[in-house]
Amino acid sequence: MQNNTEKAQTNLNQDSWDRVHLWHPYTSTSDPLPTYKVSRAEGCELELADGTRLIDGMSSWWCVIHGYNNKRLNAAAAEQLGRMSHVMFGGLTHEPAIELGKLLLKMAPASMDCIFYADSGSVAVEVAMKMAVQAAVSRSGNPQKTDFATIRGGYHGDTWNAMSVCDPVTGMHTMFGSALPVRFFAPKPVSRFDGEWRQEDARNLEELFEKHSSTLAAFILEPIVQGAGGMWFYHPEYLRLLRKLCDRYGVLLIFDEIATGFWRTGKCFAWEHAGVEPDIMCIGKGLTAGYLTMSAVLTSRAVADSISASEAGVMMHGPTFMANPLSCAIAVESAKMLAEQDMASRIAEIEGILKTELAPAANLAGVSDVRVLGAIGVVEVDRPVDVGKFQKACVAHGVWIRPFGRNVYIMPPYVISTTQLKALCKGLIEIITDEGNY
Ligand code: PMP
Repeated sequence: MQNNTEKAQTNLNQDSWDRVHLWHPYTSTSDPLPTYKVSRAEGCELELADGTRLIDGMSSWWCVIHGYNNKRLNAAAAEQLGRMSHVMFGGLTHEPAIELGKLLLKMAPASMDCIFYADSGSVAVEVAMKMAVQAAVSRSGNPQKTDFATIRGGYHGDTWNAMSVCDPVTGMHTMFGSALPVRFFAPKPVSRFDGEWRQEDARNLEELFEKHSSTLAAFILEPIVQGAGGMWFYHPEYLRLLRKLCDRYGVLLIFDEIATGFWRTGKCFAWEHAGVEPDIMCIGKGLTAGYLTMSAVLTSRAVADSISASEAGVMMHGPTFMANPLSCAIAVESAKMLAEQDMASRIAEIEGILKTELAPAANLAGVSDVRVLGAIGVVEVDRPVDVGKFQKACVAHGVWIRPFGRNVYIMPPYVISTTQLKALCKGLIEIITDEGNY
């Protein structure tokens, strides 16, 4: 019997064809990061080709909220497959799209009334930005009102406009430089979610609006939790002030709830922590519980009416896979599963365990911060983590965690058991206890 460390070695780059021919996210083909071959996944566990089982701490980047190979979601997919997996949305409609829309409007802020289905998170951000430009120009009669502001430390996706509002340092600005549209960036909020409200955040925002609001179509940001740009949790007052400034200066407010949505932060959507509603809202990731790529952009009747009154008179977007029936049917089942459970209590329980189990990490050498919100636990270390080394240690410890920058973080599927969650946290702490692992 091989132990986990030996298995981790044999597993590494087991398939050299993959190594030579397939790009993985943000890697080169000449010197790629190691990959591990998954043969199946069940509940909260990934099974590698050699039988090694890993407790999943990532929900496959926030998506797999009900766990892998979920029987109800499988059944919903099979049922829809028997009818049609796809049909165009131009001139046609279908029950899954309508049913999903009704469920989404029940979960969304009360002011949301119209829905645009899109293909992925990044495309949802593109759609939201196009919506904002069409609505802002139409409302103001000012053809210059087409720009965007955001905060540093954000992440909104890989497509062109989404990239332009990602953090200019940790995002892809340096790489694509002058090819990207120039945006206005307020500093990253310094007021912590669980700390004091600091006036410098207010001053920075006010200054940005005073200088640039006349050309701004919208302000876009991730509410409360900045995800891939830094795993930072900021103060709800920031959103309340931002809403006031947007109203005062005639700027639309876009919340990117792609990562934060569907209970990840302890509320159905993160705006609820602040009690302020956006004009436009992007959702994705957990929408289909990780089964298929799909996103949606929700907006108010007022914004939709402004677009109708614009020069084009219509929303200028219409992708091939818009409202894909298979994705919609799975999303409907996932939304029903969320509605049937006491999700607030479930996430509070996960949060409690994460707080207790990750607390000892604060005393480790090299750890600069530990923070938990909802079903997200973050251990920030004092230098960028070597992902290849770290993941090798993960496999040896029977856990799956993908660090980014200086953040080692977990956001497990909500169906994780207490035993699994404690083992996941223990694995994380054991790995970072040995600084040689990262
Ligand atoms: N917005 C946020 C907040 C995200 O976290 C992500 C994905 N990490 C995106 C947008 C882009 O989504 P996708 O990768 O599905 O295009």
